[in-house]
Amino acid sequence: MFQEAVTRYLQAHGYPQIQLKAVLFDMDGVLFNSMPYHADAWHKVMEHHGLHLSREEAYLHEGRTGASTINIVYQRQYGKDATPEMIQSIYAEKSAEFNTHPEPERISGAWEVLQKIKAEGLTPMVVTGSGQHSLLDRLSHNFPGIFHRNLMVTAFDVKYGKPHPEPYLMALQKGRLQPNEAIVIENAPLGVQAGAAAGLFTVAVNTGPIDGQVLLDAGANILFPSMQDFCSHWEDLRKALE
Ligand code: CA
Repeated sequence: MFQEAVTRYLQAHGYPQIQLKAVLFDMDGVLFNSMPYHADAWHKVMEHHGLHLSREEAYLHEGRTGASTINIVYQRQYGKDATPEMIQSIYAEKSAEFNTHPEPERISGAWEVLQKIKAEGLTPMVVTGSGQHSLLDRLSHNFPGIFHRNLMVTAFDVKYGKPHPEPYLMALQKGRLQPNEAIVIENAPLGVQAGAAAGLFTVAVNTGPIDGQVLLDAGANILFPSMQDFCSHWEDLRKALE
């Protein structure tokens, strides 16, 4: 079943093979169990401003910039754009609300699969739309010795967020990689779209409440129900990728 997915990818992109050198990990919802906090903060702060965004819908916007999430919801209700002041104040409140939660924990299975990847001599990289200043510290604290600082792509590196392919294209550039030399690990539909649009083999890991089919429709080449499941199938997937 993995082999079929790989063959379909190679045919669609015209590559003879995948020569795996790097594995590009999204952060929220893939490495850290932070999405419940984000979804909760979005829902509460939007309600506070009379805007309706359910926790479930927040997952579908995951990866989008804060400004564009606010504007989409505002447009839907009022048929016009939110003002920059409104966007700024809602986003500031959302960040403050998010920070009332404790530090998010590692997603179960993430550390284990990273150990396997590292042991095989592959390069793990982080590609996130997050712009939290504590991000680098959190990564080095929770995943010591795994990620290189200069091989990271964050909100500070890119102009367009996901679903634009830019973050993944930048990761290829930073890692001096061709699209068939890396794979993407994502949990959200917009992130999957970004990986697929960058021409990379994209693995979806459904760590949230959304229907897995949404991730396949977004362009995922393969779907796992959890990071633990992804970790336990890593060897099989690796074999299929060779
Ligand atoms: Ca994510």
